[in-house]
Amino acid sequence: MKKLVRGIVEFRKNLTEEGRDLFAKLALGQKPDTLFIACSDSRVVPNLFASTNPGDVFVLRNIGNLIPPSTCPHHDNSASAVIEFAIFTLGVSDIIICGHSECGAMEALAKGIDTLCCPHLESWLKYGEESLSKVKEGLVLDPSLSVHNQISQANVLQQMEHMKTYPFIQERIEKNELRIHGWWFDIARADVYCYEESLNRFTVIDEIEAALILERSELALNTQSDDRTVL
Ligand SMILES: [Zn+2]
Repeated sequence: MKKLVRGIVEFRKNLTEEGRDLFAKLALGQKPDTLFIACSDSRVVPNLFASTNPGDVFVLRNIGNLIPPSTCPHHDNSASAVIEFAIFTLGVSDIIICGHSECGAMEALAKGIDTLCCPHLESWLKYGEESLSKVKEGLVLDPSLSVHNQISQANVLQQMEHMKTYPFIQERIEKNELRIHGWWFDIARADVYCYEESLNRFTVIDEIEAALILERSELALNTQSDDRTVL
């Protein structure tokens, strides 16, 4: 914690006039266009690897970047509340579900956990059990990865499916008002990957892949405005 406290003093000392202006403006309201869902892992820092500023992304972080399906009875409400707020209050146009390599939650799914000490963790991880099952049934997106990293990639796709169980999410996807993306952060390489459905694998987001993602996004926006014109 020492690093945090000293960091606050550094932050105050080094905050530029431009930075102060940004925060003063943000105090009036936020308008992020993206909901970013990631694991709580300390090594996953979206603001760093995506070079974002305060106000750019609305963030949900939990163990294993899990989304309880809306169809699951008595599911945890905190993730669902974030999704509802992002859609109905902020009106985000994109949701990114970002898994990562060496995820402790995925290792716990693969190896099992001490249920005596961690009943809440055990209960929470049930939202990732289908990801484990899919890998056991043969789903392999990248055979060069370790088993827990394969589960982690399968888990991104599984959580994208869970997201679509929310009727208001499905409705917006069908209207081209919302896009769900699957990303994966490789800690050792500090690279971020995007799931490419046509290739059925995660592709590193370099300049070429970034151009492709942005082009698709632009196309979806145009389709959306075309739909509106027709209506
Ligand atoms: Zn993790």
